[in-house]
Amino acid sequence: MTAPSGFEAVIGLEVHAQLRTASKAFCGCSTRFGDEPNTNVCPVCLGLPGALPVLNRGVVESAVRMGLAVGSSIAPTSIFARKNYFYPDLPKGYQISQYDEPICRGGTVEIDLDGGARRQVRLTRIHMEEDAGKSIHDAGDGTLVDVNRSGVPLIEIVSEPDVRSPREAALYVQKIRQIVTYLGICDGNMEEGSLRCDANVSVRPAGTAALGTKTEVKNMNSFRNVERAIEFELNRQIALLRSGGTVLQETLLWDAESNTAHPMRSKEEADDYRYFPEPDLVPVTAAEAWVAQLRSELPEHPTLRRDRFEKTYGLPRYDADVLTAERGTADYFESVVRELGALGADSAKAASNWVMTDVLRVVGERRIDIAEFSVPPSSLAGMIRLIGNGTISGKIAKEVFSAMLETGERPERIIDERGLLQLSDETAIGKVVDDVIARNPGPLATYRSGNAQLLGFFVGEVMKQTKGKANPQVVNALLKQRLT
Ligand code: ADP
Ligand code: MG
Ligand code: ZN
Repeated sequence: MTAPSGFEAVIGLEVHAQLRTASKAFCGCSTRFGDEPNTNVCPVCLGLPGALPVLNRGVVESAVRMGLAVGSSIAPTSIFARKNYFYPDLPKGYQISQYDEPICRGGTVEIDLDGGARRQVRLTRIHMEEDAGKSIHDAGDGTLVDVNRSGVPLIEIVSEPDVRSPREAALYVQKIRQIVTYLGICDGNMEEGSLRCDANVSVRPAGTAALGTKTEVKNMNSFRNVERAIEFELNRQIALLRSGGTVLQETLLWDAESNTAHPMRSKEEADDYRYFPEPDLVPVTAAEAWVAQLRSELPEHPTLRRDRFEKTYGLPRYDADVLTAERGTADYFESVVRELGALGADSAKAASNWVMTDVLRVVGERRIDIAEFSVPPSSLAGMIRLIGNGTISGKIAKEVFSAMLETGERPERIIDERGLLQLSDETAIGKVVDDVIARNPGPLATYRSGNAQLLGFFVGEVMKQTKGKANPQVVNALLKQRLT
């Protein structure tokens, strides 16, 4: 995509995903978020003299699964390295990371552009590392340090500079989030910092190939902020270049409050981490058979699942996107379709409508995971079938749905107990129709004088009389017949 100014944006992203292992990368401390500060710590994650790290197998497994999901090649042997730097939230004085021999190389992430086109973003590498602690600057005087997060495992996913716009960057991070949550290796929560993104940004004259000087923007805690921060930085660089200036290689911190990015450190102070192989850990081996087993156990890739939903269930692309955005939603939807199939009904589109609107609305309102949603797929399927075969109207179904939500009862039972059966009997509805016509001579005259809009009034009256249970098609047919 070309910026209007004749410059092209060049963006490479570094995404850190916090892994969902129960214990830290190199010790047995808990990784739980939100515990009392400095309670999940031990000599290993504090880096006390003599303490020795032991690698958590779950970390390697998560990294390999991610690599397999995006088509990386998995290194049979990879090496941890020390990245040395001083910072108050890093009591060890170094971070255990991977440097020149990461566990995964290459791979691609396919993003879906607005409008349906697809783009491949190449990955450079995925490596394992540990998180640092957290400095807390806004809790009274001075700065406090919480080291609970020290040693919590991360994977860092580094892209090639293939991203061409702020929007693409946000879509890329969204896709990464979707993949890691499908794999179950990261909870994907950007606000809590479980998924973090640094954007490397440069511009070049459109049509040229050489890369411009890049800056790195950090500290964006939502997709929206990723987009806005990159937008801001591109505009800044373009304005600078147009006024004859040069871009300095520096790191900027995004400030969502002021919508600006401020320099954090410049190249003059560029870090020299003095990486060297971590002497306390042996090389990591990923045996071929183990990798093959992990590959065979991978869940369906969300993009493939989306495509399959379109094809197999004949759903619009929009539906397929919404239903597969989260794995739990896709699983729930497919359970409903399966239950419908068992009932001999084939109404994937109806199932999609109910899941996309009513189910997701309740899940959102209650801030729950769809796995905790109280209406089992079999009940929803049962209700959809009862609409399909005319037992209840779509309007009554909304009431049945609320009742299922509150009571957990089966739809048949609710319909039975509350007398919600749809009224389709022509004789019974005919009586109500005649009664309504007889009691409204005024509207009847108006209707007969050519004001056909009044049909709606009569339909409404009949529905009122039958408490919404009359079959709307029958009502309409009878009214049209008897009004004229
Ligand atoms: P560094 O050593 O500064 O971390 P790397 O070469 O490791 O730089 O690249 C880090 C990230 O920056 C990668 O995602 C890469 O694609 C991206 N990148 C590198 N050069 C540029 C550039 N000129 N413009 C935009 N992104 C770039
Ligand atoms: Mg970097
Ligand atoms: Zn520990």
